[in-house]
Amino acid sequence: MARAISSSSPHSGTRPIVFEFATHSAVDRHVRSLVAAARETLGGSLPGTRRQVAEGLGVGLREDSRIGRLIGMYDYSGPTITINPTLWRDRVEFTFYHEITHHLLELDGSLISYLQDHVKDSPSHQRTIERACNVGAAEFLVPHASVRTLAEQSNWDADLIRCVHGSFGASWIATLLQIASIAPHSCIAVVFGLEEDSHCSEETIWGTNARLSISPVVLNSLSSNSMKYWLARGTLLPSDHPLFHSWMEGIDIDEHGYIPYKSGKRQPCRCVGLRRGGIVLGLLHAGTPVPIGQRRLFS
Ligand SMILES: [Zn+2]
Repeated sequence: MARAISSSSPHSGTRPIVFEFATHSAVDRHVRSLVAAARETLGGSLPGTRRQVAEGLGVGLREDSRIGRLIGMYDYSGPTITINPTLWRDRVEFTFYHEITHHLLELDGSLISYLQDHVKDSPSHQRTIERACNVGAAEFLVPHASVRTLAEQSNWDADLIRCVHGSFGASWIATLLQIASIAPHSCIAVVFGLEEDSHCSEETIWGTNARLSISPVVLNSLSSNSMKYWLARGTLLPSDHPLFHSWMEGIDIDEHGYIPYKSGKRQPCRCVGLRRGGIVLGLLHAGTPVPIGQRRLFS
């Protein structure tokens, strides 16, 4: 999933800085413009198959189940995307467009150049790229403008997640992360599940065989623009967390809880949880969710 930033990158100090990327929202706007341009290249709508999308955007595609625990990777020297096809469908789809966004960022070069010149801290450099790729994947599958319309009068609850998913029929992961990307308040969207189920069948993930004996971890997450912190992939879901109860009991929840940071710190929040098969989709509201339409009235 990660693309290593190395000194051999073709963008090392070779391009002029075109954009300023000091905020998440500036990065998001740029990524969405790259996705819009890619859609245009593809004729306005996404072709039926991943291979057609990859070919249309000039990147090779390998589907290989032997890439270990990786779920996908992008090699800019090809350029080639490698996807593990044994993942469950939702995750394959989201991962593919995440890697496609790595490709778009590489071709464009401006964000990578900016980070290399202005952000010396490699982990935050990498986090910015990975967050941008999640925003891009969500934008391919669930365009943000339409989600914004649906969210305008919502309470940022499980009904909104169901409504967006029902409207687009796209990946649950893309649905959830796009909601967080447009949220005007501080929140984190998070998908918890079993990492080892990367290699399990569709039935195991979505059917009655979903295993409940091991604690789930963060598979995907996205912080809203105003959220200062994030949930790292692999962070364990504590057994006293409301989302754990949602996951164990197969129920949707909306109650007071906390954000379970990897460091062990707990930040109070409102927890919205939706259990789907072997995963639980969470919206962790650290700030007060004000409907977008209402916010405009007072701004
Ligand atoms: Zn990545």
